[in-house]
Amino acid sequence: MDRSGKTRVLIAGGGVAALEAALALRALAADEVSIELLAPDLQFWYRPLAVAAPFRAGEVRHFGLDGLTRTIGASFTPGALVGVDDWRRIAHTSLNTEIEYDELLIACGAVPTPAIAGGLTFRGPADIEKLERLLAELEHGEARSVAFVIPWGAVWSLPAYELALLTANRLAERGISGVELSLVTPELEPLQLFGPEASRAVLALLDAHGIELRAGMFASEVAEGALRFVPDGRMEADRVVALPRLRGAPIDGIPQTVDGFIPVDAHCRVHGVAHVFAAGDVTSFTVKQGGIATQQADTAAEAIAAEAGAAVTPGRFQPVLRGVLLTGGEPRYLRRELSGAPGQEPLASLDPLWWPPVKIVGRYLAPFLASVAESTTPDELPAAPPGAVPVEIELDADAVRDLPSAGPRLGEVESEEGATVAAIMAPDPVLVEPEDTLGETAEKLLAREATAGVVCEYGNVIGIVTTADLVRASAARTHPSEARARQWMTAEPVTASPRMHVAAAATLMREYGIHHLVVVDGGRPVGVLRFDCAVSSVPIPVGLGF
Ligand SMILES: Cc1cc2nc3c(=O)[nH]c(=O)nc-3n(C[C@H](O)[C@H](O)[C@H](O)COP(=O)(O)OP(=O)(O)OC[C@H]3O[C@@H](n4cnc5c(N)ncnc54)[C@H](O)[C@@H]3O)c2cc1C
Repeated sequence: MDRSGKTRVLIAGGGVAALEAALALRALAADEVSIELLAPDLQFWYRPLAVAAPFRAGEVRHFGLDGLTRTIGASFTPGALVGVDDWRRIAHTSLNTEIEYDELLIACGAVPTPAIAGGLTFRGPADIEKLERLLAELEHGEARSVAFVIPWGAVWSLPAYELALLTANRLAERGISGVELSLVTPELEPLQLFGPEASRAVLALLDAHGIELRAGMFASEVAEGALRFVPDGRMEADRVVALPRLRGAPIDGIPQTVDGFIPVDAHCRVHGVAHVFAAGDVTSFTVKQGGIATQQADTAAEAIAAEAGAAVTPGRFQPVLRGVLLTGGEPRYLRRELSGAPGQEPLASLDPLWWPPVKIVGRYLAPFLASVAESTTPDELPAAPPGAVPVEIELDADAVRDLPSAGPRLGEVESEEGATVAAIMAPDPVLVEPEDTLGETAEKLLAREATAGVVCEYGNVIGIVTTADLVRASAARTHPSEARARQWMTAEPVTASPRMHVAAAATLMREYGIHHLVVVDGGRPVGVLRFDCAVSSVPIPVGLGF
């Protein structure tokens, strides 16, 4: 509690989820909480219109976080969260300071990392100029084909469609013909998440703009003037524009997946860590989108407000996916409830299906941004159209947990002949309890001369802890008899079947950048495969998997 007896809520982040959570807490528990935002960037960036900026169809807006937080009634501290001591409720920052908290919300977003080596990665505002140069090359005939690529993994795919459509539109406007545009995606249908009707609408749009669709393709790199695919195949392209793959930055003392994402429960509590919540792109929820980030922020804010004593009944996270597709013509408004509630058919329409029809929908954030931007609605908005429905949509279904993963399904590639994972894995893996201390974990590994242990809860694999994790924890000066396996493990680990082709397993490990693969059969851990064992047992062709 602070001096006035209020619950101290620390929000690590200064983006979409952080601001939405701060606004929600202010609305739900103004008398019960004090709010502090911690973020390394002094600005809040409204990124969606970065896609339109190279085409002079929109402008990226940003706002000073100091002013925004003051308007909300919160305080702002510059710095990044680098570690959490949940036992003492202390957050460690990049500036070597410590901040005490009663409740912590991690809303650090994700780090966009290049996914397609050799291609132009479009991350947002930082890459507008590069895209402008590419457009100039197309206009001057210096490049005749462009592939817009959605990589597999955590990614918000909509901007790739927008970039392709806006490019086609620009070339048509300037009377430039003969440029081949294609869109490459691991999705089986365009914008698959939005459902068949939206897919059909987008397919028709791509068709009308002469953009070739290559669906169900896992692009890996650009080499020798061609885009290569996993497990095999290539296509010619003068230029490749790829979306980044998102990853979470490491935070000591917090369970994270191999990609750095944080697993949370239906109230956005971090699994196994008391008084710590997470929301937005940093969570392991499959869909990375601003609207989803605000919904998670609202969910976490309700749970925190209730813990602080406010009269709030915390709801569960029930995702609704919304989007606005910029086409250069009329925007398409799309909506689909991921929870698959009956009677909630996916919709695609020329009219906005929610209000306000902003690119990032947030119950509190959208009207707040409109007010600080000193307009009734943000710049991009048309007047309220007839038939628009309120942004607050009542959902009645539970959160969706298992959205289709966009990763290459190499885990399902089983071996009919040749080496299988079972033949070379270390069987009977070391089993670690989530509450085992790191000291106990080290003893277990040492006794079996193993480099990794499988963390199981009620028989289910929830993580993997390796000697590298023990070294990392030691470097962070944790005490081996205090720190627990659940805080330092890699959560939701990548798994393989014992019947899998060894070459496929090696490719899987290389694609994910990991050194150990948990081998699971019938839901039970049966072994651990090390990368060095896999590559030494089969020759892996350079560049491609198998
Ligand atoms: C080009 C582009 C177009 C997009 N279009 C749309 C769209 O049309 N609709 C839509 O809904 N979404 C869209 N998105 C996605 C949307 O921007 C993100 O999903 C959303 O911003 C995620 O919110 P967040 O709060 O989790 O992360 P962010 O908004 O990225 O905020 C993260 C914040 O955390 C801070 N931070 C980072 N590390 C730390 C740390 N260690 N400690 C403390 N703070 C930290 C950062 O400085 C930042 O302030 C788009 C994204 C891009 C790049």
